[in-house]
Amino acid sequence: MEYYHSPDTIQDAFSIAEKCDGNFIYFAGGTDVQIYRKQNLDKNDHIIDLSSIHDLNSISLKDGNLTLGAMTSLGDIITSNKIQNKYPLLVEAAKSVATPVIRKTATIGGNILVRNRCTFYNQSQEWRNGVGSCLRDVGDICQVTGGKNDCYSRNVSDTAAALIALNAEITLLNSAGVSQQPLKDIFLPCGIKFHDLGNDNILTQISVSMKPKRWWYKKLRLRKTLDFTSLTVAATIDINNIARICLNGVSMTPILIEEPLETLTLENLIKQARKNCKTVDNDLMPLKYRREMINVFLEEWWEYEHRK
Ligand SMILES: Cc1cc2nc3c(=O)[nH]c(=O)nc-3n(C[C@H](O)[C@H](O)[C@H](O)COP(=O)(O)OP(=O)(O)OC[C@H]3O[C@@H](n4cnc5c(N)ncnc54)[C@H](O)[C@@H]3O)c2cc1C
Ligand code: SF4
Repeated sequence: MEYYHSPDTIQDAFSIAEKCDGNFIYFAGGTDVQIYRKQNLDKNDHIIDLSSIHDLNSISLKDGNLTLGAMTSLGDIITSNKIQNKYPLLVEAAKSVATPVIRKTATIGGNILVRNRCTFYNQSQEWRNGVGSCLRDVGDICQVTGGKNDCYSRNVSDTAAALIALNAEITLLNSAGVSQQPLKDIFLPCGIKFHDLGNDNILTQISVSMKPKRWWYKKLRLRKTLDFTSLTVAATIDINNIARICLNGVSMTPILIEEPLETLTLENLIKQARKNCKTVDNDLMPLKYRREMINVFLEEWWEYEHRK
């Protein structure tokens, strides 16, 4: 059974969510949700479409502080001169997501909350029936690790990497009230439940107040368009010379390394990255290659940062 709801206000969305008693999924641009439903990986009966709540679609830049409504499309972020001037890192990350057509519909909120991926899980029902299910579906082992009792599906959000490097905060709203927190804190190191949003919470806003002195961004993928990330690295240096380097696509959560540039060494940076990334063989690119590319990308960033 499938029921589609299209509330005009956030309060209406909460009322519908309450009646659905957990058996629902929020739908923003739907570019991720639709695939999950088609592959029978999302089995909720109710879809709550947020696209008629116009208050959630906005771009504001006041005193250099950026506030984005969660329903702002990636396309609108890319074409915004205001964002391009002040936060080119975010534009670069948004441009690297999917394809132009998908970016017209895909929202920034949906991209931050995009579901973790794994080559053994993000497949059709027939494929999964043939190979055997896993912990994240109806099976009882992890296929990719040959039987471990944990899920290592990868967080693949490109804009989350950029926004964490920009020290972004998010605003969440639920029927009980509003809360704000650093974006990096919503991610859980678990491939099955990868966000800590609470049941009916709606992500309403993303705010960035950091003014980076320098930034760097690079994404590894098979083709130059369409493909999800095999490794994304986004880095900033703030006015106090703090380096924030965020890696994504190689672990269950985005991995942030935050340290004063003066004390950071390349050797230590690579060591921390490789230790914190729980990378397994669940991507189109082989594990050994992706792990090697962590070194390559960090070395490239290091050379860029220390160029004369
Ligand atoms: C061919 C293809 C290629 C892709 N390539 C990439 C890629 O390179 N990089 C990448 O990061 N993604 C990629 N994606 C995934 C997806 O298109 C993007 O992540 C997109 O930005 C998701 O945004 P959306 O608005 O469509 O989200 P939706 O699909 O609507 O939602 C995504 C998730 O977020 C939740 N959600 C959305 N908004 C809110 C909110 N305001 N409050 C609470 N929960 C919310 C939904 O319930 C759902 O779980 C690709 C998808 C396809 C089909
Ligand atoms: S990492 Fe293992 S448990 Fe998680 S989705 Fe992949 S195969 Fe399933």
